Amino acid sequence: MDTLMQGAARDLARSNRAVALTGAGISVESGIPPFRGKGGVWEKFDPMAYAHIDAFLQDPERVWREFLVVLKATLDIAAPNAGHHGLARLEALGILTTIITQNIDGLHQAAGNSDVIEFHGTFARYRCMACGARISSRRIDTRRMPPRCDCGGIFRPECVFFGEMIPPQRLWRSEQVAASCDVMLVVGTSAVVQPAALMPLIAKQSGATVIEINPERTPLTDSVSDYFLQGGAGETMTELLQQVQRHIAETI
Ligand code: NAD
Ligand code: ZN
Repeated sequence: MDTLMQGAARDLARSNRAVALTGAGISVESGIPPFRGKGGVWEKFDPMAYAHIDAFLQDPERVWREFLVVLKATLDIAAPNAGHHGLARLEALGILTTIITQNIDGLHQAAGNSDVIEFHGTFARYRCMACGARISSRRIDTRRMPPRCDCGGIFRPECVFFGEMIPPQRLWRSEQVAASCDVMLVVGTSAVVQPAALMPLIAKQSGATVIEINPERTPLTDSVSDYFLQGGAGETMTELLQQVQRHIAETI
């Protein structure tokens, strides 16, 4: 009888339109703490005081100085890990087409995936709130707080703060790819932030197989996931990929 890992690998190896939904957990092994759970950012920072758009607009200097500058420094030096590389390899093998990510760290693109929907935007770029000018993260001068554009306007990350809408185009495209995939890989997400957490449900209702990778159980584990591969993203993706490649070699 197949183990869960073997079954998941077999279904992935047969797919040519798999989609991944990723969350903060896939970047933990790159040194970026998740928001929830042990060691999570929210143990230190109250989300409503730091990551809500109203808090930012009310006092951008405080949010920049106490929160954004710390997050930016962590993100600027982070590099993809085996979890990200595994997903890039699945694209290169012609299995994975698209990643829907809740992460704002740009690590999927750095690993080489070409179609990444950044559901919650990115910290790789910043936008001036006055003139709309855009610059990359490494050109932001954090010696002055809050960082300002030449026009005097304050820069904000191009992310979606709590209290802001997901740009409709991203939501619409995510729903579309979720509805048309045959396998959805769900990696490192607590699956509680909506509407991202709906994507595996849409995939499942459209007939896709759902493979979940997470060290902890989530609301998806019992009701939605066909395969729950318990473990960290790096190690689990590496083993999954080895088995996928074995299946491909056997069927040639
Ligand atoms: P979350 O913080 O709510 O949950 C993290 C999940 O990752 C948990 O289920 C946890 O069990 C799992 N996890 C922990 N270590 C792991 C590992 N080594 N391998 C695999 N999984 C592991 O994250 P979320 O579901 O993405 O939702 C929170 C929001 O936080 C997202 O909207 C995202 O925008 C934002 N966020 C992004 C980053 C980033 O860009 N790297 C970091 C923190 C938060
Ligand atoms: Zn400006």
